[in-house]
Formats: sequence, C-alpha cells, structure tokens
Amino acid sequence: MKVVIEQWHAVAAWQWDMPEDDMCGICRNPYDSTCSKCKFPGDDCPLLMGECNHSFHMHCIYAWLQQDSSQDKCPMCRQAFKPKDAASTELE
Ligand SMILES: [Zn+2]
Ligand SMILES: [Zn+2]
Ligand SMILES: [Zn+2]
Repeated sequence: MKVVIEQWHAVAAWQWDMPEDDMCGICRNPYDSTCSKCKFPGDDCPLLMGECNHSFHMHCIYAWLQQDSSQDKCPMCRQAFKPKDAASTELE
C-alpha cells in the first residue's frame, strides 16, 4: 500500500514539473482545457500568445494584467506582455 501511494505522489510531482508550454502558467490548467473560470474549451476560452512566446488563457492573462502588481509584464518571463497577433489559433 505504501508503494502505491509513493507512485501516485511521483506522478503528481511529475505533472507539477511539466514544461510550461503544455499548460497555462497562471491557472496551471492545460492549454486544451479551460481557465479556472470557464467550463467549455475552445472559442469561449481562447488562448493568447505574447511576443515572448508564452501563452495563457485569454481570461487568465487579462485578469493578471488587471492587477497593479503585474506591471503589464508576462508572469513567466517578466517581459512586457504584448499579444502576438494571429498566433493564438496555431495552438489548436
Ligand atoms: Zn489559464
Ligand atoms: Zn476562460
Ligand atoms: Zn513571457
């Protein structure tokens, strides 16, 4: 039984360390899922890619940028976050 629990823990830790390109760095949900506020992936909860090539759910990055502490910077690399035009659809 102990072994089973340790294996489960290892899997959970691996997911936490997954490359950031597989999930939104703000809500940590996968890109093919929704942000923490939405129920339906796709057009209702699109992805937004910045010029720094970090992508987030549109709702997540908007909520982040509305915080004064964000200073309009990408939460992953701390560069000024500017949406990259026409890139969000590539990630479908
Ligand atoms: Zn998100
Ligand atoms: Zn959403
Ligand atoms: Zn970035």
